[in-house]
Amino acid sequence: EPPVQKYEYQAEVSRLMDLIVNSLYSNKEVFLRELISNASDALDKLRFLGVTEPHLLKDAVDLDIRIQTDKDNGIITIIDSGIGMTRQELIDCLGTIAQSGTAKFLKAMKESKDSGSDNNLIGQFGVGFYSAFLVADKVVVSTKSPKSDKQYVWEGEVNASSYTVREETDPEKLIPRGTRLTLYLKRDEKGFAHPERIQKLVKNYSQFVSFPIYTWQEKGYTKEVEVEDDPAEAKKDGEDEKSEKKKKTKTVVERYWDWELTNETQPIWLRNPKEVTTEEYNEFYKKTFNEYLEPLASSHFTTEGEVEFRSILYVPAVAPMGKDDVVNPKTKNIRLYVKRVFISDDFDGELFPRYLSFVKGVVDSIDLPLNVSREILQESRIVRIIRKRLVRKAFDMILGISMSENREDYEKFWDNFGKHLKLGCIEDRENHKRIAPLLRFFSSQSEDDMISLDEYLENMKPEQKDIYYIAADSVTSARNTPFLERLVEKDFEVLFLVDPIDEIAIQNLKSYKEKNFVDISKEDLDLGDKNEEKEKEMKQEFGATCDWIKKRLGDKVAGVQISNRLSSSPCVLVSGKFGWSANMERLMKSQTV
Ligand code: ADP
Ligand code: MG
Repeated sequence: EPPVQKYEYQAEVSRLMDLIVNSLYSNKEVFLRELISNASDALDKLRFLGVTEPHLLKDAVDLDIRIQTDKDNGIITIIDSGIGMTRQELIDCLGTIAQSGTAKFLKAMKESKDSGSDNNLIGQFGVGFYSAFLVADKVVVSTKSPKSDKQYVWEGEVNASSYTVREETDPEKLIPRGTRLTLYLKRDEKGFAHPERIQKLVKNYSQFVSFPIYTWQEKGYTKEVEVEDDPAEAKKDGEDEKSEKKKKTKTVVERYWDWELTNETQPIWLRNPKEVTTEEYNEFYKKTFNEYLEPLASSHFTTEGEVEFRSILYVPAVAPMGKDDVVNPKTKNIRLYVKRVFISDDFDGELFPRYLSFVKGVVDSIDLPLNVSREILQESRIVRIIRKRLVRKAFDMILGISMSENREDYEKFWDNFGKHLKLGCIEDRENHKRIAPLLRFFSSQSEDDMISLDEYLENMKPEQKDIYYIAADSVTSARNTPFLERLVEKDFEVLFLVDPIDEIAIQNLKSYKEKNFVDISKEDLDLGDKNEEKEKEMKQEFGATCDWIKKRLGDKVAGVQISNRLSSSPCVLVSGKFGWSANMERLMKSQTV
C-alpha cells in the first residue's frame, strides 16, 4: 500500500475557501460551472499538446466530459479525458493560488468590501476549484497525466487546513488519462446529485463549452411483450379450438441508464449570424471572458478570399482596471483557435495593436498551422492580414456605437476607451482615417457635450481655413484664455484639449479632411483677416514701446510684437511657432521632477 502524504494549504488558500463558503452561500450552484470549466481547460490543453505530440491523443478515449450522479448517496462524479495532473501539479495547482481567475475573485472581493457594495457580483467571477466545497464535505481528485505513468489522488475536506496525496490503487478508478473528480455532498446539498438537476445546470452553465458533456440519465423505451393466454379463457372460446391460438401482447416500459449528450457543442462563431440572438452573443461574451456586464457592441463575421477566418468581436462596457490605466497588452483579450482548436489567448500586439487591446473576441482561422508558435505569429503574412481585417472590423464596430441613436452609448465608450483611441493617433498612423472621426472634444461652443471633428467641420465659418484648438488643463482655463478673444468675436469654434494626451494626438493627426489643426496660442496665428496697411501703422506707432518692453524683460521672452489677435486684453504671452505650447511645457515640467 503506497503511503498517504499530508500537506498544509498555502495560507491564501484557506482564506479563499473561507471567503468562498461565506460569500457564495446563496449561489452555490456555481461550483458546477467552475468544475466544468476546469475540465474543458484540461481538454483544451491536451488537444493543443496533441497537435505536436499526437501519441498523447492515441489512448482511444474521446475528448469529453462525463458527469455521473448517485442520488441515494449524494455523490457527483465529473470525469474528463483531458491533460490531468502529475503528483507535483496536484500540489501546485490545488494547494496554492497562482491562478488568474482566483486572483480576480480576491480583488473583486476586496473592492466590494471597500466600497461596501453588494456581494452578489462575486457570483459572476471565476472562483475556481475550491468552489467545490460550497456543496461538498469531501472532494477526491484522481488524476493521470500523460507525463506520468501513475495515477494520483488528492483528497481534501471542507474547513480543513491540510489535504492528502497518494497513488491511486483502486483498479475500478483507474483511467487512461484525465481527471476524475468525486464530490461527497454535504447533507443539505444532496439534492444536487439528482440527474435532472445536474442536467438542467449543465444546460444552463455550459452552453458554450466546446467539448461534449454527457450526463448519466435514466431512460426508457417501450416494448411489446407476449403474455401467456389464460387457459380458462382459451377453454371458454372453445368454438375456435381449431383456429390458430391468438397471441396476446402488452406494452411495457424498459428502464435503463445511459450517457446522454447534454450540451450543444457547435461553437457559436461557427453558427450562422442570422440565427444567433443578441442574448446568445452576450451570454457567450460573459461566460468566455468572465465579465458580468453586457458588452456595448458585438460583431460576428467571416472573411474569405486570401485568408479565411471567423470571428466575434466585442466592445466591453467598462475598461478592465479603471480607465486611467490605459494600455495593458496582456489582457488575454483575443482567444485564437485554429480549426476549432484553442491555441492561445496570450498575445502582445500580434493580433491587435496594443491600443485596441480593450476589444475582446475569438478568432478561428483555417489557414494557420495548428502548431502555431509565437515566432510564427510574428512572422506570418497570414497573421498580418488577419490583424488588418480585425482592426478594420473593430473600427466599424466602434463607429456603429458612435452612430447609434442612443448618444449615451458612445459617451460611455468614450469615457472608458477615449484614451486608447488617442494613443492610436500616436501609434498607428495607418489608421488615422479610421480613428479621427471617432475622437471627441469639448469646444468653445460646446462645453458640456463633446463634439466630433465632423461636427466641428459642419460648424466652420465660410471664411475659416483651419481647425483651431487650445490646450489647457481644464475647460475653465481654456475658456478664460485671452487667446480665445478674437476667435470668439469672429464666432470661430475652438477645440479645448484638456486631456494631457490630446495635444500630442492632434499633432500626430496634423489635419482632418484637409483642414489643418492650428494651435491658437502659437505666434503668427493667421485668422485670414490680415490688414497689412493697419499693421504697418501700428508697428510704426508702437515699435518703440515693443523695443522698450523687450529690453526690460531681457531673456525672459524671445520677442515682443504688435499683433491683431486680441480684442480686449492688452497683451498675451504666446509660444514660438516651432517650440512647445505652454501646455506641453507644463506637462514636460510635471514629468521631469
Ligand atoms: P483556474 O481554472 O482559474 O486556473 P482553478 O482553481 O479552477 O483555477 O484551478 C486551478 C488549477 O488546477 C488549474 O489551473 C489547473 O491547472 C488545475 N486543474 C483543475 N481542474 C483540473 C482538471 N480537471 N484537469 C487538469 N487540471 C486541473
Ligand atoms: Mg478554473
